Amino acid sequence: MCNEILSQLQPGETATIAAIKTEQENRKRLQDLGFISGVPIQCLQKNFSGSSSTYLIHDTVIALRQQDADAIMVTRCTEAAGSAKTIALAGNPNVGKSTLFNALTGLHQHTGNWSGKTVALAKGTCQYKNHNFTIVDLPGCYSLSPVSRDEQISYDYIMQEPVDAIIVVCDLTCLERNLLLALQLKAMFSPVILAINCMDEAPRKKIELDFESLQQLTGLPTVGITASKKQGFSQLLETTLQAMQQPAQRLQSQLPEQTSLVTQVQKIKEQCVIHHKNHLQTDRRLDQFLVGKWTGIPIMLLLLAFIFWLTITGANYPSQWLSSLFARGSTLLTVLLESCHTPHWLQSCLVDGIYQTLSWVIAVMLPPMAIFFPLFTILENCGYLPRVAFNLDHQFQKAGACGKQCLTTCMAFGCNAAGVTGCRIIDSPRERLIAILTNSFTPCNGRLPILIALVTMFFAADQAFLAPILLIALILFSFLVTLAISKLLSVTVLRGMPSSFILELPPYRRPQFGQIILRSLLDRTMFILARAVMVAAPAGLFIWILANIQIENQSLIQLFAQQLQPFAAQFGMDGVILLAFLLGWPANEIVIPLMLMMYLSTGTMVDLDNYTALHTILVDNGWTWQTAAAVLLFSLFHWPCSTTCLTIKKETGSIGWTALAVLLPTATGLLLCFILRQLLLLLGIA
Ligand code: GDP
Repeated sequence: MCNEILSQLQPGETATIAAIKTEQENRKRLQDLGFISGVPIQCLQKNFSGSSSTYLIHDTVIALRQQDADAIMVTRCTEAAGSAKTIALAGNPNVGKSTLFNALTGLHQHTGNWSGKTVALAKGTCQYKNHNFTIVDLPGCYSLSPVSRDEQISYDYIMQEPVDAIIVVCDLTCLERNLLLALQLKAMFSPVILAINCMDEAPRKKIELDFESLQQLTGLPTVGITASKKQGFSQLLETTLQAMQQPAQRLQSQLPEQTSLVTQVQKIKEQCVIHHKNHLQTDRRLDQFLVGKWTGIPIMLLLLAFIFWLTITGANYPSQWLSSLFARGSTLLTVLLESCHTPHWLQSCLVDGIYQTLSWVIAVMLPPMAIFFPLFTILENCGYLPRVAFNLDHQFQKAGACGKQCLTTCMAFGCNAAGVTGCRIIDSPRERLIAILTNSFTPCNGRLPILIALVTMFFAADQAFLAPILLIALILFSFLVTLAISKLLSVTVLRGMPSSFILELPPYRRPQFGQIILRSLLDRTMFILARAVMVAAPAGLFIWILANIQIENQSLIQLFAQQLQPFAAQFGMDGVILLAFLLGWPANEIVIPLMLMMYLSTGTMVDLDNYTALHTILVDNGWTWQTAAAVLLFSLFHWPCSTTCLTIKKETGSIGWTALAVLLPTATGLLLCFILRQLLLLLGIA
């Protein structure tokens, strides 16, 4: 910081008033106009001769002559010179920090109604009244004595990094617990601002909050906000800005005594919060069913069946629509290329290689993902996922693992790499490793469409209701294998007793349907499209080249597939299938398109209007329901995709564990396929 006179400020520059050095009368007038030490001021314009300037102070424009501006000392902080101030968002898990972060920065951090989904720091920027801020979203923590890895990340950041202010986000509906962290932070850092979130829930839950008393009793500037509706933000930023007039400082390094804090919080709650009814009553009633002894698991299975049914039936329409659109596109592209006299080989490479693979990924793979993911996100936002973890904890405990593994398994439905990172919520290193090593046993968003396609074509062709049931059976099977492998690990390389299971069951919340559908569709669709372009297009090109390089009248693809054939046959598959899985390492979405390209490498792809075309191609190339069963098993259990492998290496820091994470599902898949084939041989139906 440096002191200078106000007249030196150039248009657009900002500073804060430090002192006024003029005679009494003038000083009084300036003070009346708001020129008080600590108040921000911005130079707007200078007149033609530069003898007077206009300034913005307290939202009012004031013109001053240069000699008057010369008498006002200002402090030009570093921020005025262009650098941003850092505001950290701290708070218990699941209070709306990421929702606030996203709304302030325009970014899309993962939000969901359960504790522990934010396991890493996220940074973004935000502008308010010519001030630039860097906003840091910290993983949720219950107190400043870190227990888990994500809590440690928050603690280290608060204690070691240069932070200008901390906003402690609290959930209005569980203020008592949230305030403990706020008071701990207040004792150790300044300035701290209290943001009471979920104010929209106050009328529904009949909660009244006395903000003035809260502010007085906590000694912290306090603002009510509704992060999900972007309400109260300007007041929050204004208050933060005011609080930041004081330089940030670390006050003490010792945590205040817990019991005195608890007493203080209780007193605050008694004086500031009025509950007009037992706001937890509705949640309790819902819990009687959703986590009930006899109803919990059946309801969970029914919900899963409903989601799969919607996904499968719903995906048909956009799939058909996209396929016919792409078919028309293909004809147009060919006509265009022909009219440009493009050589035949290049036409074939562009249309049969790149375009067809991309069309497949988008038309057949994208619709089920685009339906499944928002539905799953709605369940997540209601607060249902931790209840699933509660329902299934017993099974995980028996497998020597942690009930929270259920949450990371659920995350794996979206993406295995995200599931692996999510394992940070598991405190015990042994159980965390088990969760990481078994995460890819759950089929991700990229593999679900393969399962849906194969089940629909080979096992439920005429009975639409059968497909969701078979899919659930497959998911349950993958779950059982996850438990079995977890058990195996916990009695061998990762021996030990299961640790405690402490998980917060969040309040049920009405999900923001519009936002969820928009975000999952936009984010997911863009993500898949980007991945399709980045992976499927070059892969399509690569396959086309392999298919068109001939050695002794055989294409390279045929040669490779032939090499793999004897090995693959032992497991009920063929060389092409295995090659497609190998080449699909960067992204599971492209495994089926790769197979098709290889099967069709001698000809051109036929019309892709629906699964019937795909079924015909596969059957023409020797597929039976037995082949489909083997491919289903291998889709469920094989090496994790490249992104997941990299994430496992990053999270475990060990090549050895990463290798084991690749080996375990691959060996399981091959073993199951082998057993299936032997069984079928034994029964004489292979
Ligand atoms: P974090 O763990 O603290 O980052 O919390 P999130 O930002 O993920 O939010 C947790 C849950 O609270 C999500 O389901 C959000 O949709 C929901 N939520 C966040 N802010 C509000 C709010 O202002 N009102 C309501 N009713 N729900 C909110």
